[in-house]
Amino acid sequence: MIDTPAVARTPHVAAATLAADVGGTWTRLRVGGAQAPVERLRSPGRLNQPGRSVAELREDMVGLLCRAAPPGARAALSFGAAIDHLTGTVYGSAPLWGPEDAPYDLAAALRRRRPDVTWNLVNDVTAALADFAAGHARPGTRRIGYLTISSGIALRVADWDRKHIPVDDRGLQGEIGHLPAMVTGSVPERSGLPCACGAPGHLASIASGPGIARLAERLGLVAGSELPAWLPEALAAGHPGARRLLELCVEPVANMLRTLWCLDPHLDLLGLGGGVVEGLGAPYAEELRRQLAAPTSYADRGRDAAWLADRLVFCGPGTVDALRGAERIGEWLPGIVP
Ligand SMILES: [Zn+2]
Repeated sequence: MIDTPAVARTPHVAAATLAADVGGTWTRLRVGGAQAPVERLRSPGRLNQPGRSVAELREDMVGLLCRAAPPGARAALSFGAAIDHLTGTVYGSAPLWGPEDAPYDLAAALRRRRPDVTWNLVNDVTAALADFAAGHARPGTRRIGYLTISSGIALRVADWDRKHIPVDDRGLQGEIGHLPAMVTGSVPERSGLPCACGAPGHLASIASGPGIARLAERLGLVAGSELPAWLPEALAAGHPGARRLLELCVEPVANMLRTLWCLDPHLDLLGLGGGVVEGLGAPYAEELRRQLAAPTSYADRGRDAAWLADRLVFCGPGTVDALRGAERIGEWLPGIVP
């Protein structure tokens, strides 16, 4: 028997991790990876603390995240606002910081306070796409997207093979909620609806949760605040006004998807989620499929049920998780490029 000398081994210690999903109302934190428990806290923001100044709220946010990060951690943050993915600058978040629209370099503030931590910030739709892709991409999937229709509307598309998410020179992609809505036919009640960004007639003015509520009021159906409770039941009962409302709100989404497939024929898979899609469920999915089945021109001959079933995934509540997506985002980061 040969004596083996005792070798001092360098202990292999994986860097601790922090994942956070920061929304307007709630912040969810998880230290230590996918099996660890999730902590849910009220987000320091305008919605929860209307009395505090934007500077104080931002300071509170930095403090919260820095306290949560273990020494030397890799931190991945999903943030519910338009973000410059190249720098971590937040372009504005009404629920957190009100109408303040000066960009805020949150990543730089975090790095100043905790330089021992590796901070990565992505938008929550990007994080949701990372989670959706991990669960749904198939062999042969070329491009994959995730569309959220909620209090706002945004889309993110990735090249799946290359784990590549192209962004523009401001680090953005797919903030489609603030593009002019594509609608046909003149419907006076639907025209000129205000958007949260201040401009009229955007996709989000009509098709987001608040947009649908405003249109319901204009159509004289129900007060906007009562819509979430009223609409699912009214649709189930076949209420003609509810059917009309759904048709008008889905139309610009259907037209956006037609355009998307026209410009990107290799977009093989698209997940749809967010409060509107999840809250309305089957009637929303059926109306979108019904509109997409109708041909509009030789360029768009309509899509049959099998074609749509192969490409559209309607995600139920909780199936796509931005916190889990933040944990997955590390493998994507080298591919988020201008
Ligand atoms: Zn807008």
